[in-house]
Amino acid sequence: MLNIVIFGAPGSGKGTQSEKIVEKYQLNHISTGDVLRAEIKNGTELGKTAKSYIDQGQLIPDELMVNILASVFDSFEDSKGVIFDGFPRTIPQAEALKRMLQERNQGVSVMLDLEVPEDELMDRLIKRGQISGRADDNEETIKKRLAVYHEQTAPLKDFYKKEGIYRHINGLGELERIFADICAAIEE
Ligand code: AMP
Repeated sequence: MLNIVIFGAPGSGKGTQSEKIVEKYQLNHISTGDVLRAEIKNGTELGKTAKSYIDQGQLIPDELMVNILASVFDSFEDSKGVIFDGFPRTIPQAEALKRMLQERNQGVSVMLDLEVPEDELMDRLIKRGQISGRADDNEETIKKRLAVYHEQTAPLKDFYKKEGIYRHINGLGELERIFADICAAIEE
């Protein structure tokens, strides 16, 4: 099993690079943000709860996220591995992911940290908001999401460094060069 955590701030290119990784390595993809947006679109109870957090730029509570993640993970059949995009975002989520995979005799193979300077992230997210119409891609919410990233999510770098599976990727520059660096880190 090739289980990959793709990591980075909002706007670092996780979604774009995940699509390319999925295609090349034939993996299943879990984007927790996409899962939540689908729930909102379908008007489910989970969607209603999620929306109140997403619109504020805050994270959905860990327990809820961990349950969602496990049910999506267990829905895959004959999987060659999974790319986790947007999860984990907190230390308790990383611990829960480790436990969940251990219970299934698996583990995270590599954690890819896509690093992009803050002013570039801001630029990209504002531009994306103009195209995607995502309610949380407005300047005020973007600032909150970046603050939440620094406070709650960035500490995961140390968590995965201790696990010995952390790989830094320069996320600024040409798409194909970034993808080549990612492939080299995966195949190492
Ligand atoms: P994303 O599309 O990954 O940027 O996620 C959009 C929003 O969904 C985030 O700002 C959070 O409110 C929520 N979200 C997505 N993934 C998670 C997660 N793993 N834990 C908590 N909240 C999440």
